[in-house]
Amino acid sequence: MDSLATLFEETVRDIYYAEKKILKALPKMAKKATSTKLAKAFDAHAAETEAQVERLEQVFELIGKAPRGKTCPAIDGIIEEGEEIMKEAEDDTVRDAGMLAAAQAVEHYEITRYGTLKSWASKLGMTEAVKLLDATLKEEKATDLKLTDLAESEINVDADAEDEPKRKTARGSR
Ligand code: FE
Ligand code: FE
Ligand code: FE
Repeated sequence: MDSLATLFEETVRDIYYAEKKILKALPKMAKKATSTKLAKAFDAHAAETEAQVERLEQVFELIGKAPRGKTCPAIDGIIEEGEEIMKEAEDDTVRDAGMLAAAQAVEHYEITRYGTLKSWASKLGMTEAVKLLDATLKEEKATDLKLTDLAESEINVDADAEDEPKRKTARGSR
């Protein structure tokens, strides 16, 4: 990699690989979710992700390259960690809280990648690519905020209610 342009191209390939992995993971997470709202949030983002993959294909077209992913060990690790939580959680509401957190880790990875790519595209004078990358960046940020709201209003509350009786006993109720 000897130029910002090649660095840009390699990183587009990294996030292209990641988006495709996410596209496969989200429906599985929606299926496993107990909360209807969480399942809907995952499904809605899967639909958005399809459009994000298409935007990346437009970016490839703008740089005159065939769309090709490049293994992203970071997203593989984040998704693997999420799968572990899905298997290890022994309670439905706790699993929901863990999956939501895993989904936010994914969004944060995407936010850092799209933020960087947008800056690089801007530096490289690629106006059209900036628009495409910014559209996706906005969706990832909005998804992250939506998940925070859902976690704090319901999912974490339900997960914590699970062991509230146990805690009360431990504290010793008067
Ligand atoms: Fe995405
Ligand atoms: Fe990566
Ligand atoms: Fe996303």
